[in-house]
Amino acid sequence: MTKTAMISGITGQDGGYLAKFLLEKGYKVIGLYRRGATDTFEKLKEHGILDQIEMKDFDLLEFSNIARLLKNYQPDEFYNLAAQSFVAASWSEPVYTAQADGMGVLYILEAIREFSPKTRFYQTSTSEMFGKIQEPVQSETTPFYPRSPYGVAKLMAHWMVTNYRESFNVFACSGILFNHESPMRGKEFVTRKITAHFAEMVTGKTDKPVELGNLNAKRDWGFAGDYVEGMWLMLQQEKSDTYVLATKETHSIREFVEEAGRTAGFDIEWRGEGVDEIGVDKKTGKTVVKVNPQFYRPAEVDILLGNPEKAEKTIGWHRKVNFAGLAKMMMEADIERAKKGIL
Ligand code: NDP
Ligand code: GDP
Repeated sequence: MTKTAMISGITGQDGGYLAKFLLEKGYKVIGLYRRGATDTFEKLKEHGILDQIEMKDFDLLEFSNIARLLKNYQPDEFYNLAAQSFVAASWSEPVYTAQADGMGVLYILEAIREFSPKTRFYQTSTSEMFGKIQEPVQSETTPFYPRSPYGVAKLMAHWMVTNYRESFNVFACSGILFNHESPMRGKEFVTRKITAHFAEMVTGKTDKPVELGNLNAKRDWGFAGDYVEGMWLMLQQEKSDTYVLATKETHSIREFVEEAGRTAGFDIEWRGEGVDEIGVDKKTGKTVVKVNPQFYRPAEVDILLGNPEKAEKTIGWHRKVNFAGLAKMMMEADIERAKKGIL
């Protein structure tokens, strides 16, 4: 029998990769998107899958709509990827972030409990919940210490998932996902901001350097295409649970700049310190990176490093792409787009 999967946040980075993965497995995919005045389906078009998805209106803040969708479709699986996902924006929109990323998840859990109790639910939790890290390597048992309204809101949702599993026997999984990127990553996130800007530089569209904030922060960066497989694997198990998905490697923003720069043809040397630091391409003497304190955050997550051992051993998940491969993939994709004028 054909399985039905509902994906909220279908227009985002992970939504496209997950929809493609599930369509290839023969699922009927119902994509939930926010109605807006402009076309937000670019990523699904680029994946070439828009016409294979049944698209329905959805907003995390509208309980009646969520309840109706679950009542009408009774999907086998519901993947909640929708969120105000940009940490930096969560300080300027803390109330909305808490409502969408915290309460929105509760609405879905309530609708499942009430109207579609057989639906298996996946929630995208985040390594931002570890924030000011309490252990050098973070796993499912590491205490949380979120550092942004985003992290706090996601932590509420994470505990709601655990609570609905334990209280009402809802099959609800939480994936604590460390940063994952791809050529489909939003340009406000640091990796894609760097690759998109470097692509404009190499194709002669700009000669200005990319302006970044804290170059010393370190992240455990994986490839989104690998992580969506982990989401699906979680829902195929006998019991619902919480799993960390990570690469077990951590790299600084500076290292990502160097790695992406290599593919773009830059040989970057760092000069100066703090707000005066610049990255210079040794070959041309051109400044390609500059620090702008505007991109510093009110509270920073200095370093994240995840341990995916439980997911590897229990559900058989293994990431395939490493840090260097990810930076190269993103840089090459953006140079291609810049050449075609579609960046
Ligand atoms: P994106 O920002 O690319 O996508 C977010 C999606 O959520 C978009 O489709 C967006 O729609 C939708 N959305 C936002 N607000 C609402 C709302 N109020 N109602 C309905 N839909 C809404 O995120 P990613 O694909 O990168 O991430 C997917 C999920 O994983 C998110 O929940 C994120 O917080 C979480 N996560 C991501 C990590 C990462 O490194 N990528 C790490 C850990 C967790 P629209 O197109 O209209 O804006
Ligand atoms: P996050 O880990 O979900 O917040 O993902 P981001 O890609 O937005 O940020 C990752 C890290 O890069 C954070 O520590 C930021 O402070 C740091 N960073 C440095 N410069 C920038 C910048 O210009 N934009 C963004 N988004 N982050 C930056």
